[in-house]
Amino acid sequence: MKVHEYQAKQIFDQAGIPVPPGDVATSPTEAFEIAERLNKPVMVKAQVHVGGRGKAGGVKFAENAEAAKVLAQKILGMDIKGLTVKKVLVTEAVEIISEAYVGIILDRATQKPVIMVSSAGGVDIEEVAAKTPEKIHKLFVDPVVGLREYQARNLAYKLFREISQVRKTADIIMRLYDIFWKVDSSLVEINPLISTPGGDVLAIDAKLNIDDNGLFRQKNIAEMRDLDAEDPAEVKAREADLSYVKLDGNIGCIVNGAGLAMTTMDLVKHYGGEPANFLDIGGSSNPGKVLTAMQIILSDPNVRAILINIFGGITRCDDVANGIVAAFNEYKPSVPVVVRLTGTNEEEAQRILSSFKLPTADTLDGAVKKAISLSGIE
Ligand code: GDP
Ligand code: MN
Repeated sequence: MKVHEYQAKQIFDQAGIPVPPGDVATSPTEAFEIAERLNKPVMVKAQVHVGGRGKAGGVKFAENAEAAKVLAQKILGMDIKGLTVKKVLVTEAVEIISEAYVGIILDRATQKPVIMVSSAGGVDIEEVAAKTPEKIHKLFVDPVVGLREYQARNLAYKLFREISQVRKTADIIMRLYDIFWKVDSSLVEINPLISTPGGDVLAIDAKLNIDDNGLFRQKNIAEMRDLDAEDPAEVKAREADLSYVKLDGNIGCIVNGAGLAMTTMDLVKHYGGEPANFLDIGGSSNPGKVLTAMQIILSDPNVRAILINIFGGITRCDDVANGIVAAFNEYKPSVPVVVRLTGTNEEEAQRILSSFKLPTADTLDGAVKKAISLSGIE
């Protein structure tokens, strides 16, 4: 789960990480009021779950409240990488001397949190990572011992020379690690962490992702979820208890079991196709889940063929077949649907589906190849 910058900044602020004051607005009038209250030049910042807002025109400077209102008018409703802006953060503008990067993610290879810092922070950090990776310094933290002050100080020295700024930065890194650990975060990032002419160090951007598996014990953060800002298909999938991840390809996949879903996607790739999604209907075989799965996949305009691959164990093929029938009646798919059902009650399933004359295949390889060829994409 992702939270917005303004929410992450509230969490930072409570944890003692310095952030410029500000508030969130959903209308130009609200933006005006916040700017007037701050009584300083402000930044008006689009709140969407995507990076690179600045380059997309979603982060703008306003000299006064009147200008903030005009900019909010412009940014609210703007489309940034497919997401509509519904909220803006109005926050005190600060004068910047330098921009650094600080991020913490979970490194699966070493099974440790890794802290990454760079003095070359700001909007081009991806380019820095790609072209000059030596400018990014990493520290793998032993999760049992935690982060030690001397380690945080060593990292801070990579970012600033001035001793008071090093101290402030080390303190920020310690607090950031603490947040990362306590809120079950999978990623926390300050880009940029800036220094001001007065020698202050502050976070002027904030990103915080939470591991969904930790949300049950992160009630305060779970409440921050903004369904309005999420992909509607993913929201619907979560409500139906489906594991769904949208991808960029055109072969829609409906599979039971995460391992089989991964295998199916691998095979689609292997035979020259591109999967449109990962979708695991889970172990049970409620026909309603298949119906929702079909609805979600059919709402993706890139999908040119659907591949249903079910290995019946606890999942009963006849239940899945009933779901497919319901989906055909309800949504009348215009793209080819290739079905491979094998295992528990497969004969019954074939009978249920026989009137639809769907393209079928006996082997998984055959089903994948058929879906790709029927998709009409070379
Ligand atoms: P992002 O593009 O989504 O990462 O949004 P950021 O909040 O990081 O803003 C992008 C860039 O805008 C920053 O790297 C800064 O260069 C600039 N910026 C953001 N806020 C301020 C501010 O208060 N003052 C100044 N001078 N620049 C800012
Ligand atoms: Mn940023």
